[in-house]
Amino acid sequence: TYVVTDNCIACKYTDCVEVCPVDCFYEGENMLVIHPDECIDCGVCEPECPADAIRPDTEPDMDDWVEFNRKYSELW
Ligand code: SF4
Repeated sequence: TYVVTDNCIACKYTDCVEVCPVDCFYEGENMLVIHPDECIDCGVCEPECPADAIRPDTEPDMDDWVEFNRKYSELW
């Protein structure tokens, strides 16, 4: 899965939301999040993010971000 990280905070661009084929972006308190179970790992959103906030969970130390993304996407 891909996750949104803290570079997204206060970013007003929604290019990522528009390209996601499965609409798995949700609004958190002050940033966007990706539902980790709905993301199909296509990677299309990553280059669209002007803040470089979208990262694959295969990078080191991403577990907390996966849980953060899950928590806020399930509030809706
Ligand atoms: Fe959506 Fe693909 Fe990005 Fe996952 S990797 S959030 S499915 S655009």
